[in-house]
Amino acid sequence: MDIRYDLHCHSTASDGSLSPTALVARAREMGVDVLALTDHDATHGLAEAEASARGQGLDLISGIEVSVTWANQTIHIVGLFIDPENIELQQGLERLQAFRRWRAEEIALRLEKKRIPGAFEGAQEFCGGQIMSRTHFAQFLVKAGYAPDIRSVFKKYLVRGKPGYVPGNWANLEEALGWIHRAGGLAVVAHPARYPMSGTKLRELLKEFKDFGGLAMEVVSGSHSRDNILHMSSLAASLDLHASSGSDFHAPSTAYTELGRLQAVPQANTPIWRSAAWQERAALAGIRQ
Ligand code: AMP
Ligand code: MN
Ligand code: MN
Ligand code: MN
Repeated sequence: MDIRYDLHCHSTASDGSLSPTALVARAREMGVDVLALTDHDATHGLAEAEASARGQGLDLISGIEVSVTWANQTIHIVGLFIDPENIELQQGLERLQAFRRWRAEEIALRLEKKRIPGAFEGAQEFCGGQIMSRTHFAQFLVKAGYAPDIRSVFKKYLVRGKPGYVPGNWANLEEALGWIHRAGGLAVVAHPARYPMSGTKLRELLKEFKDFGGLAMEVVSGSHSRDNILHMSSLAASLDLHASSGSDFHAPSTAYTELGRLQAVPQANTPIWRSAAWQERAALAGIRQ
């Protein structure tokens, strides 16, 4: 029997709407066998997810999605099989969490100048854990009636050039890969087709990522179109990167791909779960293969 993988999703430990327990239960309902929880810059959802996965016949991989600034742009690097206890990883994540807290205050100040008061407290109401995300501001702005839905509120207020956008000061690529690798993990470029950069720039990013020991890129992602998948498939094949697959699920809503509802990895690619590095870690972690 084929194993159903979903190697990228979010819980209330970052900007997802389901608790780790509810997320794991939903993944199981959707037929996922192996799930990686990859909250933004935070690992505090993993213990609860692991505990509920064990009771439900689902195999949970400890993951993370690290925010990175590369060539003046924000990109995301997923780490799989990380040890959440690793000190260097936690110190790195604390720095990003502190930046998020500062940025949240700054976003609120900028919105206030545009006559939108109370955004900090408003966003905090949607923020379950220690991670304050633009998603929480988006939820506040929608609730307060400044835009009809999350997608349009981002466009109007929260993307580059808009009043609620504060440029990132995240990890650099080498640092992020260092944290992931020294915590025992495998590094994956998240949703590469989503970055607003030229083909040449994207290749440069992927090459640099590979030079720092990166293993895979998401070929199949909830935020990739079918054309994106084909394009990323050929990039991965030509750069000799393994292919990963994840929904990037955040909430039960039509705005996000459902857990486990993913196309097969194209024939041209080697899935990350066929790599020797994966197989070694999966055996140690008791993840089915
Ligand atoms: P942050 O890491 O706090 O800057 O927030 C980034 C998060 O906002 C992403 O992980 C997405 O979940 C969400 N996001 C970013 N851009 C959009 C968009 N255009 N529409 C909806 N959600 C978005
Ligand atoms: Mn998110
Ligand atoms: Mn992402
Ligand atoms: Mn994500």
